[in-house]
Amino acid sequence: MIRPSLQVPIVNAVLDARPVYTIDAADRIVFANSAWVEFARFESGMDLSQSSVLGRSIWDLARGLPVRHLWQVLYGRVRAARAPIFVPMRVDTPSLRRLIDIEVRPLAERSVQHICERVWTEARPAVALLDACYPRDERALRSCHWCCRIQVRLGHWEEIEIATRSLGIEAGASLPVVQAAACPTCKQSLLKTFPARVA
Ligand SMILES: [Zn+2]
Repeated sequence: MIRPSLQVPIVNAVLDARPVYTIDAADRIVFANSAWVEFARFESGMDLSQSSVLGRSIWDLARGLPVRHLWQVLYGRVRAARAPIFVPMRVDTPSLRRLIDIEVRPLAERSVQHICERVWTEARPAVALLDACYPRDERALRSCHWCCRIQVRLGHWEEIEIATRSLGIEAGASLPVVQAAACPTCKQSLLKTFPARVA
């Protein structure tokens, strides 16, 4: 993971608030603030609003079975232990690297609240692969949902700028589709994540 060399202030007013959302026992969204809707809109590529996400299953917005499976494991642990976990996650945009820490905490009746704390944000030259404006072709690349690295070959995941160069991908007429996945490093780390035991 690339470490920040330059911290930049977040100037977007929407991004000043902490993104927060809550799911109920059936994994339906029962609360979402506007900051999280902004996140979800970019992540899902869907045209979402606060009113349109309420009542919707969180799995309508999640991409890829490996991603869903890992989140379900974590929700099961949080609900069973009635204690929170913290999940670090890259939520990059084309021109920003961003790291957040998500507090996943249990509420009453098996609801689960997510509070996204921004850890750092770093500006960078825009990455075309993350820009939804570019048309896509039949090629596909796997991107880790948690660390944003791209799989360049079996067992090898690289930061998106390095992967773009390694794979010779240029912002031409069209670009590969980016599919959400879980890299082995993040998968192992998440599977070792348990709520802290309450004394
Ligand atoms: Zn990863």
